[in-house]
Amino acid sequence: MIVLKSEDELRAMGEAGKLVAKTHAVVAEAIRPGMTTASLDALAEQYIRDHNAVPSFKGYNGFPASICASINEEVVHGIPGPRVLKEGDIVGIDIGAILGGFHGDMARTYPVGEISKEAERLLWVTEKALEQGIAAAVVGNRLSDIGHAVQSFVEAQGLSVVRDFVGHGIGRSMHEPPQIPNFGRPGRGPRLKPGMVLAIEPMVNIGGWEVVVLSDNWTVITADRSLSAHFEDTVAVTEDGPLILTQA
Ligand code: MG
Repeated sequence: MIVLKSEDELRAMGEAGKLVAKTHAVVAEAIRPGMTTASLDALAEQYIRDHNAVPSFKGYNGFPASICASINEEVVHGIPGPRVLKEGDIVGIDIGAILGGFHGDMARTYPVGEISKEAERLLWVTEKALEQGIAAAVVGNRLSDIGHAVQSFVEAQGLSVVRDFVGHGIGRSMHEPPQIPNFGRPGRGPRLKPGMVLAIEPMVNIGGWEVVVLSDNWTVITADRSLSAHFEDTVAVTEDGPLILTQA
């Protein structure tokens, strides 16, 4: 069942989303060649806890860190550690936090120093794909219109959309119904209603859409080792249109 949120609950979710967006700003500011992903994780965890919130990912199904940090061909769920970021890398940072009983969830892929034109284009396409998905999150549309908007845009740019991982409803739990694929035919699934809150999160690859999970059982990489990017926002469906809750 898709849980609809009241006005008060949406306000509370806005606070959680704002904190996650601010945590992103802190991490983004710190990203540079020479930095380890473990240090970015520590920075995010401290910031979240300093603001009376709890990192959603830490301990989730045994995940050992507060953020996911996914470098280059890593798609999502990379585990922060001693790996040092290098000039030209791209790093996907996914952050979730619980504040006042509600979750916010947001991902961005950041450049490390100067990156290739190809990588820059990947980041641009993925960010625009998220915007397209959000624009489809309007009252009266059906759920699959979101994924269709993402897929159409990405494939028109000659890139591919990951199929094995999806966006999700979000609220008092990090993952609530419905699942939100980033591909598919339009006009299917439940009608979008005011009070639905959705984590929309396209994952886009330069090569094929196929992915594999590494032996750490978390890190997802592209099967062809091509570069991948991930952008995510927590979005409320309202009578006035989509409202991005993960904004600083
Ligand atoms: Mg998510």
